[in-house]
Amino acid sequence: MNRVERKKILLVEDEVKLARFVELELKYEGYDVTVCHDGREGMRQITEEEYDMILLDLMLPGLTGIEICRRVRKFSQVPIIMLTAKDEVMDKVAGLDSGADDYLTKPFAIEELLARMRTAFRHSAGAAAKKTLLQVQDLTIDTEKRMVMIGEKVIDLTKKEFELLTYLVQNKNIVLTREQILNEVWGYSYIGETNVVDVYIRYLRSKIDEAFGKKYILTIRGVGYYVKEE
Ligand code: CA
Repeated sequence: MNRVERKKILLVEDEVKLARFVELELKYEGYDVTVCHDGREGMRQITEEEYDMILLDLMLPGLTGIEICRRVRKFSQVPIIMLTAKDEVMDKVAGLDSGADDYLTKPFAIEELLARMRTAFRHSAGAAAKKTLLQVQDLTIDTEKRMVMIGEKVIDLTKKEFELLTYLVQNKNIVLTREQILNEVWGYSYIGETNVVDVYIRYLRSKIDEAFGKKYILTIRGVGYYVKEE
């Protein structure tokens, strides 16, 4: 997946001329834009398609921007920028309360909208990156940087050790059988070679449990392994 993905933007705005203007400008900037002029239609689009960002007018026929925002936040953290008219100052607060990332007062310069969009994208990327941190006790795995730490100390693991530990921590408190571990970490081609799991568990234990004098990886005899959250 090396092709450049165009970001998909949904614009829900009932002022047709403004919507058309914003649509053309965003397309010129390389965004893939879908426009709706009605709140219900906007909501339908959001549930049927996956968008990278939603630009939402506040006062809309069908469903208000605030109502849409509230509904969307029940299932998605997609960045939302509210577009509000000048006389809707009070509603800005309600807009942010309902889960919008930002708001912009009409009329706005298109450069301002583009700048806000870039900021919202950056923030949501940052929030997503945080989720790449897995934790159990004082052990942290950064799946993006492929780094394991105990407290502040970086643990040097091989690729397979890293994948095995990540799988265990992703499923913390769940006992995983050797077969499950093999399938997930080594792939099906290794079926029948379950002792490779024991060997790698031993490697991990010597680098983690023994080195830190603590039991992170536990054995259920005859079943498999798990890591325990205290
Ligand atoms: Ca409107």
